[in-house]
Amino acid sequence: MSGRHTRHDLERTADDDALRDLEKMWHDSPERDLRWHPGLDVHDLDCNSTPGYDGNKGDGEALVAAHAAELDDLQERLFAEGRSGGSRSVLLVLQGLDTAGKGGIVRHVVGLVDPQGVAHRAFGVPTEKEAAKGYLWRIRNALPTPGMIGVFDRSHYEQVLVVRVDELEPEETWRAHYDEINEFEAEVAASGTTIIKVALMVSRDEQKKRLTQRLERPDKYWKYNPADLKARRQFGAYLDAYQELLERTSTDVAPWHVVPADKKWFSRLAVSELLLAALRSLDLGWPPADFDVEEQKRLLAES
Ligand code: ATP
Repeated sequence: MSGRHTRHDLERTADDDALRDLEKMWHDSPERDLRWHPGLDVHDLDCNSTPGYDGNKGDGEALVAAHAAELDDLQERLFAEGRSGGSRSVLLVLQGLDTAGKGGIVRHVVGLVDPQGVAHRAFGVPTEKEAAKGYLWRIRNALPTPGMIGVFDRSHYEQVLVVRVDELEPEETWRAHYDEINEFEAEVAASGTTIIKVALMVSRDEQKKRLTQRLERPDKYWKYNPADLKARRQFGAYLDAYQELLERTSTDVAPWHVVPADKKWFSRLAVSELLLAALRSLDLGWPPADFDVEEQKRLLAES
């Protein structure tokens, strides 16, 4: 049999070649291509662009599908590690203006892995109790436990976004949050959590299209919130807030990735690749058996 390929081997080789071709459409790597860096100004960002990526919609969707099995496998390894005394976890922080597509990312990207291993949490206006405890209290309580992938749909960053734009706190108070957040995230990372931060950037025009669609389709009314129009009028102020947030809180242990979000297929591709890269970087194995496998086989056979 040596030197001969089975049909299955040949198919796998063809699949591997196709996968490599799809992967090569990234110039470098999604983590590096999308990472915020000094000089990147969100005011000038083309939200319809696909930075670092040469493929089209079909290629992007094919790559997400081709990587789905690996994503699922790595998530299961992480989960198994957590069940076996490991301390590591992953936290995906999703921020974006209304209609930027956070929900779609959760459904189409996070939905690729076993929901048992995902701790999803959306952060709305804090309750009275939450507000009294300080803005990081509810965040700390929602951090992923070992083995889990935590997903924050909005996060502590609202404290330097809506709080800043709507003047809910005096400037000196919200300004102090940048350093507090950096310290907090350094602590979270040191405890074994890999943090992936994604700013989904939708353009004003695309946002209008998506809001219009919500008003034209009865199956989308539930997504429409008249208050979104207020945030739309504040679009420029939000961009200023995003720019400063990126400048002040993109750190080595918790860097920001800026993802243009006018093309939904691209933002989904980007986030699935960032999640995959984070899981790959953990070099996850399978926990060894903490029992005598041969003995258990024998006992099972005898049972
Ligand atoms: P989304 O647009 O994310 O789907 P939504 O419109 O369904 O959300 P909710 O989930 O009820 O609305 O709440 C989100 C709102 O809560 C946003 O307007 C956000 O700015 C606000 N919010 C979140 N965190 C805070 C905070 N720390 N302080 C004040 N407002 C906050």
